This record gives sequence, structure tokens and C-alpha cells, in this order.
Amino acid sequence: VFNFAAGPAILPENVLLKAQSELYNWRGSGMSVMEMSHRGKEFLSIIQKAESDLRTLLNIPENYSVLFLQGGATTQFAAVPLNLCKPDDHVDYIVTGSWGDKAFKEASKYCKPKTIWSGKSEKYVNIPSFGSLEQTPDAKYLHICANETIHGVEFKDYPVPTNENSLLIADMSSNFCSKPVDVSKFGVIYAGAQKNVGPSGVTIVIIRSDLIGNAHPITPVMLDYKIHAENKSLYNTPPCFGIYMCGLVFDDLIAQGGLSEVEKKNVKKAQILYDTIDGSKGFFRCPVEKSVRSLMNVPFTLAKPELEAEFIKEAAKEKMVQLKGHRSVGGMRASIYNAMPLAGVETLVAFMKDFQARHDV
Ligand code: PLP
Repeated sequence: VFNFAAGPAILPENVLLKAQSELYNWRGSGMSVMEMSHRGKEFLSIIQKAESDLRTLLNIPENYSVLFLQGGATTQFAAVPLNLCKPDDHVDYIVTGSWGDKAFKEASKYCKPKTIWSGKSEKYVNIPSFGSLEQTPDAKYLHICANETIHGVEFKDYPVPTNENSLLIADMSSNFCSKPVDVSKFGVIYAGAQKNVGPSGVTIVIIRSDLIGNAHPITPVMLDYKIHAENKSLYNTPPCFGIYMCGLVFDDLIAQGGLSEVEKKNVKKAQILYDTIDGSKGFFRCPVEKSVRSLMNVPFTLAKPELEAEFIKEAAKEKMVQLKGHRSVGGMRASIYNAMPLAGVETLVAFMKDFQARHDV
């Protein structure tokens, strides 16, 4: 099938086959990765290569630490303020969708966040012009969700905190490793793996190293970046198999020519799909402002909503699955992460055109 799920999501076939071939006996060790000690030389080589390949892919500067954690991006909604703020500190959030809003609400427990812009009243179809933002002068950081998975809104460039001591923090869960990113612009980047780079259970945090070590005293040990950085992500038992899978994906992305090449493929796939929606004379609609449409998650509706269930059912029969939109917004959503082949998007648009020809009367 072509799997358009938002996450856990499609993984590259060659990566899954490689994992299958190594499942029972990892490279002559006689063990599955699931059976290894996380402190043994075999697993250490796996996690070290995963980190080194991720550093290559994103060109991560040396003064940044890479952490492989657990708890999903949702845990980072709390970990970020706990590690960077004191309870009275001000921080700013730009809320371009439900995930950014959840991050803001979680931060409210640990510091004093302010939503300096929200797209909620327009149902999250836009991103503010950066010039119009009124940032809090003493904000410790400015938080964004780089790609809103549910609403399909993606930052194409990034705001700069006006206070030079402030930091840009990004939840990149759903566009992580989909294109090159200048990591040096960010204080912290965090991402759940389960969209573009692996199975659920691994959360990747990339943090400027000098920001580590200031966690609020109430910070649980598992949320303290210092503990994880000092222990090279091995303070407790990490999600070993998930990290191994991420490593295979990083290896594959490097083999594809790196993130500039990956981005070209993603642009092409998204363009075909948005062109089909826009060219349908209103039969299909994407509510998101064109300039900020996501390359990863494409939400769309039908002018005749009564046909949506049929669309999803017929698509599934044609082996295109998980096209239902998020329960909070309805309609359809095609998530077209790195691992979605061009053929998957071509099959989808052919189906959309056929569906329109049969129903647009
Ligand atoms: N942030 C974004 C942008 C997401 O898409 C998701 C999950 O889909 C989350 C955060 C929450 O991630 P998790 O379920 O890994 O906690």
C-alpha cells in the first residue's frame, strides 16, 4: 500500500528490508539489536554512528549536543521550559496550530509564556509576517512549531528573536530531516522520530551545549538535558531498537545525496499534489495560504463534504491508506514524508482526478 499516515508513518522500504535482514543476528554478533546491552560495544557503535550521520546530514555545529531521548515531542513541551527557564521568566510562543498551542499550555506550568501570535481564529491557515510580531523584550526564548502536522502549515524561513539573548526553539517533529536547516539559528530543535526518521519511541533533541546545565531544581532526572548529555543519551536504557532504525534512515538519507536532494524530491511531490488540488476548480480545496503550505502534510477537503467518506474508502480499495484528516479538522490529509515515493503521490493524484471526473457533475 501507499501509506499516507501522519505518524507513525511510512519508512523507506530498503531500510525496513535491511532491518529485517539483520533482525535475528545483527552483523554477526549473534544477537538482535533488541537483545543487546545498551552499554555493549555493538550498541555503542550503533548510537555513535547514528549521531555522527545526523551531524553530517544537518551539518550540526560542534557546539551543539545531540540527544536521543524518550517521551515524544510532548515531553519536550515541558522539558524545554524546565531546562531553560525559572518560574518567573517570560517566553514567547507563535501558535500556528494545535501542537504549538499544546506546547504553550504545557509551558504555562513552568514559566510565564505569552502567545504573541495565534492563527486559531482563522483555523490555522497562516504564519505571521515576522515584522509585525511584538516580541516580549525580556523573553528567554521564542518557540515555534516548524511544521504543524494537523493543519499543514510550515515555516519557510524563521523569525529571529529581537532580544539578542533570546533563543529560537523549534518543534520540528513533522519536517525533521526533510530539508536542510541552519541549526546555528536555534537554541533547541526537538523532534519525535515517527514521521521522517524512524519508529515512535525516539525523540531527538539538538541543543546548543552552553544552554545545558541550568535546569530548574524540580526537573525530573529524565527531563534534564545535562544528565542526558553527560551520559551520551545512555543515562538509563534508551530506546535501542528505535535508535538503530533512525540510524538506518540517516544512512539512507546520506546515500540519497543528503538533505538538499531529499528536499528537491519533497518539493516535487508536494507540488504535484497542490497543483492537482488547485487545478480542480474548487472540487478539492486546501485552506492553507499558498506561501506556507507544508511539504509534508497536505490537508484538503471536498466541496461536497458528503463525498469525503467515499473518497477515503475508495482510495483504500486502491491501496492508498490512512488519508483521513485529523479528527479535530476532518476532511483528508495526505502526509507525504521523505519515504513516500513519487509513485505514491502520482497514484493519489490520478485517483483524485478520476474521482472528480466521476463525481463532479
Ligand atoms: N509536535 C508535532 C508537530 C507533532 O506532529 C506531534 C505528533 O504528531 C507532536 C508534537 C507530539 O509528538 P509525540 O506524540 O511524539 O509526543
